[in-house]
Amino acid sequence: MTAVRIDGKAIAAELREKIAAEAQTLIGETGVVPGIAVVIVGEDPASKVYVASKGKAAKECHFHSVEHSLCADVGEAELLSLIEELNGDDAIHGILVQLPLPDHIDESKVLNLIRPDKDVDGFHPINVGLLTAGERDKAMVPCTPAGSLILAKRAIGNLSGKDAVVIGRSNIVGKPMAALLLAESCTVTIAHSRTKDLPDVVRRADIVVAAVGRPEMIKGDWIKKGALVIDVGINRIPAPERGEGKTRLVGDVEFDSAAENAGHITPVPGGVGPMTIALLMANTLTAARRKAGLDDLDYAALLG
Ligand code: NAD
Repeated sequence: MTAVRIDGKAIAAELREKIAAEAQTLIGETGVVPGIAVVIVGEDPASKVYVASKGKAAKECHFHSVEHSLCADVGEAELLSLIEELNGDDAIHGILVQLPLPDHIDESKVLNLIRPDKDVDGFHPINVGLLTAGERDKAMVPCTPAGSLILAKRAIGNLSGKDAVVIGRSNIVGKPMAALLLAESCTVTIAHSRTKDLPDVVRRADIVVAAVGRPEMIKGDWIKKGALVIDVGINRIPAPERGEGKTRLVGDVEFDSAAENAGHITPVPGGVGPMTIALLMANTLTAARRKAGLDDLDYAALLG
């Protein structure tokens, strides 16, 4: 391996510590306690794990944190009225609805009802519009791309003029990631399932962000020498070498071979994943600060 391994776990822990200190200052100076509500519908085990770690991080950051667990067969109207209640609750600055929602619930109806200033996931059309219009300072930016950008800047500093390829065009990761890289003055290509000659497209990139959801699809010989690789993918695959029925997590990038060519690379697990939760805390603190009439903090700068 020649690449520098980007330790997202350590950087996220450092960021959570800074956020906790800033939250304490906010509480001490204004009495405002940042509050987050996480809503989960159904019993999906992976979603439950995510929600538990969000609650734990919120407590560590001295936030007021509430969890609403609803049955899988809850009616859409009941979920919508919970969102309205949280929209009107002054103790709550951030609302997160854990996705996916069951099929009988219209996901966009739910997400669009969240007040944009409490939309700590950054999925509301107002926040999507602000980000793409270059008004990042007024938007709530989706956590995974925002965390990925911090890792990228920490690894290589100024991104201006770099060729960036984002693989995946989802609303949650690919599109907002591309918007953020464009705002950093990268030349951005968004690749997706219909892209022709993907290996050649990736070979041009100084920065590769993989957000596909296909285990180890991106091969080491697609990576330009010295490129920065941010692997957003989280894929569970069988790991018979660990015993019968065991599994392990891998990214969208074939780590060992890519690390031979890359200059910097994020591992899976321990790369982007922990940053997502740290940025959720950052967005909640931002929402609370904005409500108190205070400026946003620069979280990349906080890390030094
Ligand atoms: P998604 O399924 O919504 O989107 C996947 C994208 O990949 C699509 O735009 C599709 O066009 C593209 N794609 C599919 N097959 C392709 C191919 N053969 N070649 C090129 N592009 C292809 O997924 P998502 O929600 O954006 O998530 C992507 C991955 O990131 C998943 O593994 C998910 O688990 C992971 N993820 C991680 C975090 C985190 O915190 N680290 C957060 C969100 C998502």
